[in-house]
Amino acid sequence: MPAITTIPQLVAAGLAAPDQAAVLEDVAQEFRVLISPAMQGAMTAEGVARQFLPDPRELVIHPEELRDPIGDRAHEPVPGLTHRYPDRAILHLTQTCAVYCRFCFRRETVGDAGTLPDAALEPVFAYLAATPAIREVILTGGDPMVLSPRRLGAVIARLSGLGTLDAIRIHTRVPVVAPERITPAMLAALRVDIPVWLVVHTNHADELTPDARAALGRLADAGVPLLSQTVLLRGVNDTPEALEALFRALYRLRVKPYYLHHCDLARGAGHFRTTIARGQAIMAALRGRLSGAALPTYVLDIPGGHGKVPIGPGYLAQGPHGWTVTDPQGRTHTYRDPG
Ligand code: SF4
Repeated sequence: MPAITTIPQLVAAGLAAPDQAAVLEDVAQEFRVLISPAMQGAMTAEGVARQFLPDPRELVIHPEELRDPIGDRAHEPVPGLTHRYPDRAILHLTQTCAVYCRFCFRRETVGDAGTLPDAALEPVFAYLAATPAIREVILTGGDPMVLSPRRLGAVIARLSGLGTLDAIRIHTRVPVVAPERITPAMLAALRVDIPVWLVVHTNHADELTPDARAALGRLADAGVPLLSQTVLLRGVNDTPEALEALFRALYRLRVKPYYLHHCDLARGAGHFRTTIARGQAIMAALRGRLSGAALPTYVLDIPGGHGKVPIGPGYLAQGPHGWTVTDPQGRTHTYRDPG
């Protein structure tokens, strides 16, 4: 089954009504369409379909929405590298992905410039070598795991060889949306002298098809440390039940839920955003009914490139007689510091 990249293919596959084709063409002109074979197979689940099917509501652009919502471009010392925090840098190896998600905060750039050419990597490696304060390089995109194992492995080996990094981190959707790419060659590419952590982007338990579960199993068996990141999406996963099912499934698959992102101010993604109060209420409901090891941190990327911060809910407040602490059932208690 080939990937779907056009509206006629979407209509032919029965995933869009013919009378919607014209308006969906307008959407596709603005934001690319790409649905992998694995996700086409999971389209019967609403929580999956909404993430990938173009929607006329994407043509509604709100004034607060931004082309670069998390400010990648504001911290780019050399093309392809974002250096926002002193000890970490993001390397945008490719702008290509295995799917194009309808809420993506990089939707203005994904699919654009293809893969960073070898010549463009040289200034990146020179900057990293001259900046030993950078202890971790995060490969993101696009999706670095759409690259061949040979090319990805060469970059990882070169980063490991710098001798200044504690770890490499790869942010990817591939193990879930294109699990067939997790081959022995890909596993071998991840094996270098320093740890390569994988942060798997997944938003709904129904994305975790048998093939995706098997791919995550191969990664865990190969000793690759696995974390997850999830975007809080209205109509997809904005209930305690949906997120509990996802985080439980990930925990069983040896993937530690790491971040729950509040949906960024990406253009045309307003119908996916819910409120921070709703996100906090969901997190409060999950605490106490889900192991702490299976609970991610709920975070907001402050628009404009000012960094990522946890956004609660808070359990601690300063009172007249020390701290007031709220337990998972909502009861309050007093705690005093020594002295
Ligand atoms: S895979 Fe990641 S980078 Fe690519 S479109 Fe989806 S969210 Fe964006």
